[in-house]
Amino acid sequence: MWIKLIYPRWPKLEGQTEFHLPPHGPVTFAAALPREIELSFVDENRSPLDCSDRPDAVALSVMLTCQVPRAKAIAAAYRRCGVPVIAGGIGVTLHAEEMAGACDAVFLGEVEGRCDQILGDLGRKELRPVYDWLREPAPIELVGTARRDILDYSLYTYRGVRMVDLVHASRGCRFDCAPCPVGYLGGRVFRPRPIEKVVAEIESIDNPRLFFVDNSLCQDRAWVEQLLTAFLPLRRSFISHPLDSDDEILDLARRAGCWYVYQAILSPSPAIRERIRRYQAHGIGVEGTVILGTDDQDEAAIYRLVDFTLELGLDMAEFNVLTPYPHTTYRRALAAEGRILHDDWEKYTGDKVVFEPKRLSRTRLQDLYYYAWEKFYGTAGRRMKMGALIRKVILREQAQGASAAGEGSTKGWTQGGSAG
Ligand code: SF4
Repeated sequence: MWIKLIYPRWPKLEGQTEFHLPPHGPVTFAAALPREIELSFVDENRSPLDCSDRPDAVALSVMLTCQVPRAKAIAAAYRRCGVPVIAGGIGVTLHAEEMAGACDAVFLGEVEGRCDQILGDLGRKELRPVYDWLREPAPIELVGTARRDILDYSLYTYRGVRMVDLVHASRGCRFDCAPCPVGYLGGRVFRPRPIEKVVAEIESIDNPRLFFVDNSLCQDRAWVEQLLTAFLPLRRSFISHPLDSDDEILDLARRAGCWYVYQAILSPSPAIRERIRRYQAHGIGVEGTVILGTDDQDEAAIYRLVDFTLELGLDMAEFNVLTPYPHTTYRRALAAEGRILHDDWEKYTGDKVVFEPKRLSRTRLQDLYYYAWEKFYGTAGRRMKMGALIRKVILREQAQGASAAGEGSTKGWTQGGSAG
């Protein structure tokens, strides 16, 4: 059976530096498929999509709300020709009803251990419209090494430098931040993978640069310590979401390869200033992710927040307009007050105002979004900052490679470091 796996294209954030990371959803899905399935993959963000072929089935992997309209269009094109279309991923789970109306079947929740049933139904031409495992997460032990062999890595470089590979060591999040649908998607239970499985996956990746896309590594300190300790001999450089910011964890994280974290900055608070100072004191770079347009922000507050990001000495910053994604606390609150302007999902990209702000006008918020990017990056420009960042990680890799060579091992540091 030939399944064509497609990752629909999506618009990049206006103002964001254009680069592409290898997508994680498709390779995770591919790992759950039996090996006898013939699988081809198209990331439409990197390659043109030809819908004139006739696979036995199309599988759409959808991560973002803004991919939904394109996913529906692809489904329509194949279904018109009689090719059955199945869709899954975070974006499908958040838009289950709409996607179910556009596909032969939607898959909600985690796929591990569930493929046999859906493939059997597909073979018998008895697909059910919805396979709903959202409230029954797969046993975490079943999460295997992602199938990165389906990727064409020459498509994932920035100015000739190979981009990071995405990995996850855990699922779920016990926090419940207002703009975030993760609680709905993954349940509010933190589920760490067995560390030996994470290590085996990392060892299978021919790339010294990784990005741990775990929701948060601040959920189980003892497990994080074990995980970071297990990373020490692997000699990789990695990016992650926030870590606990005490000296012990940060020192261990740095030695384990952490060189960069994404840190949400919601307000100019002393606590966040101190947290970022600690990362930096341990040699870990920081990218601030900043949401503009929350109900407590007026114009002056946004000016203060942008100034604050500049004071922090961040490596990079990413500014987003608050966006009420489905199944979030924000959306429920805004909907209750009649403040959501539309459900044009293509505009749910984080760079457009799609709701009625409380303390400033829509147009003013949109202008302040542009102001934030310009003020932060100024004449240096985003490309220069990105270039500086890449130099930083390459120098780090060279230093570690030299040190590893001194220890009689160069594993991973001379291969796959750059491509293109
Ligand atoms: S924003 Fe991060 S920490 Fe907060 S609920 Fe979402 S995944 Fe968890």
